[in-house]
Amino acid sequence: MKIKDILSQGKPTLSFEVFPPKTEDKYESVERAAAEIAKLDPAFMSVTYGAGGGTSKYTVDIASALHHNHHVTALAHLTCVSSTKEKVREVLHELKEAGIDNVLALRGDIPVDGAVSKEYSYASELIREIKEAGDFCIGAACYPEGHVESASKTIDMDYLKEKVEAGCDFVTTQMFFDNNILYNYLYRIREKGITVPVVAGIMPVTNVRQIIRSCQLSGTYLPSRFKAIVDRFGDNPAAMKQAGIAYATEQIIDLIANGVNAIHVYSMNNPEIAYKIKENLSEIL
Ligand code: FAD
Repeated sequence: MKIKDILSQGKPTLSFEVFPPKTEDKYESVERAAAEIAKLDPAFMSVTYGAGGGTSKYTVDIASALHHNHHVTALAHLTCVSSTKEKVREVLHELKEAGIDNVLALRGDIPVDGAVSKEYSYASELIREIKEAGDFCIGAACYPEGHVESASKTIDMDYLKEKVEAGCDFVTTQMFFDNNILYNYLYRIREKGITVPVVAGIMPVTNVRQIIRSCQLSGTYLPSRFKAIVDRFGDNPAAMKQAGIAYATEQIIDLIANGVNAIHVYSMNNPEIAYKIKENLSEIL
């Protein structure tokens, strides 16, 4: 099923993200985690694409297993900046063969050694190609706090508009920990005429060190309420997990209460987190 059709139903939806293994020996455990999360009957599940594309086979395989074995709508991520056009065509062919209807089209991060393929510069180029390659529902990334390389949020929104005009059907946000940032962003992109559905990406924080580093790299704002939780519980993994899930749950309830219906949880291959969040929303969804 196409994600744009799921999102157009106007009901709250909960979806989850998993990431593929880096090596073959970890494949089975990732597939098992994805299968556990699939039991929660999510609106869809996304499978990320490894930086550089070396593990693209696992992205296709996990997405395919979700679709065929677990009957969950799958969204396969695909990046282009370290890829060739030939590789992109190959992956799209594999996705089509596997019956995957949905692709999240991304540029990917520029590798630290600067080794890019030179065949792609921006996600919008990939979106145009996917549009020509077949009948895919195409998603893209968006950044409520602005992409870290952008000179301003306004410029970043202009490029988001270019992605939508290139043919993307919905956008998924980077993680954020202050819902007001998203509400302001939604207001501004709607004013610019960007009307596609926005899926809110929610990160339940359980691994503090990893998340602080990732927020520093992406420029994600950490509210004082969030920092207090980290200060108090950061050294106690069990307490931090409980507090992180509660924080994410509160964010989701506030989003749904304010009409943001599409919620995507970065579940980090952790079925327990996915289960607890779903349980916390049992009367809301
Ligand atoms: P783009 O939309 O191409 O934007 C990149 C930068 O270039 C921005 O600053 C933008 O403002 C600017 N820009 C865009 N178009 C133009 C133009 N025409 N001229 C000048 N400047 C322009 N990474 C992975 O490796 N694998 C994944 O699976 C993955 N999944 C993600 C999922 C989500 C929801 C998000 C938010 C990010 C994900 N990423 C993933 C990270 C993503 O690849 C990086 O954030 C990357 O740096 C930017 O990708 P993009 O598709 O947003 O790029």
